[in-house]
Amino acid sequence: MKKKRLSLPHFILISMILGIIVGILMQKHADIANTYIKPFGTIFLNLIKMIVVPVVLSSIISGVISMQDIKKVGKAGVKTIVFFMATTVFAVTLGLIFANLLNVGSGYQLSGESLTYEAVEAPSMGETFMNVFPSNAFEPLASADMLQVIVIALFFGAGILMAGEKGKTFGDFVDSATEVCMKVMEVIIRLSPIGVFALLVPVIAENGPDVLLPLLRLILVCYFVYVLHMVLTYSTLTKFFAKIPILRFFKIAMPATVMAFSTSSSMGALPMALDCSEKMGSRRDISSFVIPLGTTINMDGTAIYQGVCAIFIAQIFGQDLNLAQQITVVATAVLSSIGTAGVPGSGMIMLSMVLQSVGLPLEGIALVAGIDRILDMGRTAVNTTGNMACAACISFMEDRKEGKLPPSSKQAAQ
Ligand code: ASP
Repeated sequence: MKKKRLSLPHFILISMILGIIVGILMQKHADIANTYIKPFGTIFLNLIKMIVVPVVLSSIISGVISMQDIKKVGKAGVKTIVFFMATTVFAVTLGLIFANLLNVGSGYQLSGESLTYEAVEAPSMGETFMNVFPSNAFEPLASADMLQVIVIALFFGAGILMAGEKGKTFGDFVDSATEVCMKVMEVIIRLSPIGVFALLVPVIAENGPDVLLPLLRLILVCYFVYVLHMVLTYSTLTKFFAKIPILRFFKIAMPATVMAFSTSSSMGALPMALDCSEKMGSRRDISSFVIPLGTTINMDGTAIYQGVCAIFIAQIFGQDLNLAQQITVVATAVLSSIGTAGVPGSGMIMLSMVLQSVGLPLEGIALVAGIDRILDMGRTAVNTTGNMACAACISFMEDRKEGKLPPSSKQAAQ
């Protein structure tokens, strides 16, 4: 009988499960996990960071060239942003509904502990918008400022199209660079089972029952809504707009979802998300633009977390939020998710903006800070999965508009 070989997604899933088990077993030896296992995770993350900018830059330029029309890119961009905003509004609304229904703050005793939280200044919307446009073409590449990298790529892609015959050499060079970057990315992705394991063990080892138990209700409500949003929103959208069967979507997306969960960084999961999107049948020109953009502005998981935490903090401090205040939370959570960077912990910093908007005490953040990493893992998994869902839907819509048989429906039909 022919032996079935395990594929990379299987190995990634097994590493995640092993990482969680070993982490639990090492809870009394978190220092050993930090000294001997964590460095492998850090090396893996460094490699991902190394490749992320070249991949995004070259693949977006290639995408613009292959669309052959900058207006088409603009139209796909508008649809993408509408998709992002709509799903984020829905996500935070779900978060608020279930935090209220499940009484997220009940059972938690505020035990007179002295809470202090130094709010880090969140950038204003005007500043965020202004910062999208770089004053230097190289600095954003070095500092991996993804929105600025996207803007540079769009300008250069448009420049190549406008230069016509004379721009062809540059275009061919970028196309070739994209292929090379994708190969390098493939090699790094093959290391992900080791990376996932080495990143998870220390995090699980450090978060023992004494850290998690007092806030168990908050953790459960957040995770319940994370899963609900993925199953309800993404599977419905990809089923209707991209004709991908529900299980198939999650099965193909799984490696990137697990990567996001283990790294708590949608930026760290970006290469894997591009890879999974391609396997899902999404067009490379679309996903190479949608996924990096989503990594910086589309944070459904973060919005859920902010909604649930706002209700949690309000209940703990005995302040009821009325309907108008909860609508304000929806608006600020959507705005703050745009400003949230795809790196660990940034959603917690932006939580201060949401709390401030409805007059909740910022000290409340100190309450949830201790378990932030655990909440961050789940919200990042949602963020990354949402980007892949969007790429699949926009790919399908563009294909249909151009009269092509969408690759995803081809696969679904098989
Ligand atoms: N860690 C999240 C991400 O990378 C952002 C957050 O902290 O909410 O998507």
